[in-house]
Amino acid sequence: MLNIVLFGPPGAGKGTQSAKLIEKYHLVHLSTGDIFRANIKGGTELGLLAKSFIDQGKLVPDEVTIGMLASEVNKQADPKGFIFDGFPRTSAQAKALDDLLQSKGTSISLMLALEVEEEELRKRLLIRGKDSGRADDQNPDIIQNRIDVYNAETMPVKDYYLGQNKYKGIPGIGEIETIFNALCAEIDHA
Ligand code: ADP
Repeated sequence: MLNIVLFGPPGAGKGTQSAKLIEKYHLVHLSTGDIFRANIKGGTELGLLAKSFIDQGKLVPDEVTIGMLASEVNKQADPKGFIFDGFPRTSAQAKALDDLLQSKGTSISLMLALEVEEEELRKRLLIRGKDSGRADDQNPDIIQNRIDVYNAETMPVKDYYLGQNKYKGIPGIGEIETIFNALCAEIDHA
């Protein structure tokens, strides 16, 4: 199986590149942000809980996120592989993902990290907020909160995969197609 973690700060382009990667490699795309938003839209109990954290730019608690992700992975009968988008976002999530995949006789193949500087992220998120109506992209304070949470809680996940020799950093600024080609080159060499 080909199991990829697509990593990067909010606004790095994970969603855009995931869409292209799943088409090319026929992987199952699991975006925790998308799943939470679908639950919010559907008015589920999980959605209600997630919304209270997302609206403040905080992470949804690990136990909730890990449980949801595991159940999504378990739903797949015979996947060619997964692209994990927006997960893991904490070291505890990274460990839980390793344990889950190990129980299925597989593992993470590589982490592809889109590297984009903070000033560019703030600009992109505000534009996305206008276009998509996503509430968490419209308020500069919430955006800053997310970037701060990323630096404090999510950055250590990079070290986790560096320690496993699986981390590949890719510049996330430039043409979408150029970035996509750089990602594909890493996958094809993995
Ligand atoms: P972005 O990458 O732009 O921040 P996402 O759609 O990936 O957007 O996530 C939106 C929000 O959903 C996050 O700010 C966070 O509150 C919540 N979320 C998504 N993934 C996770 C996760 N793995 N752990 C905890 N919270 C998460």
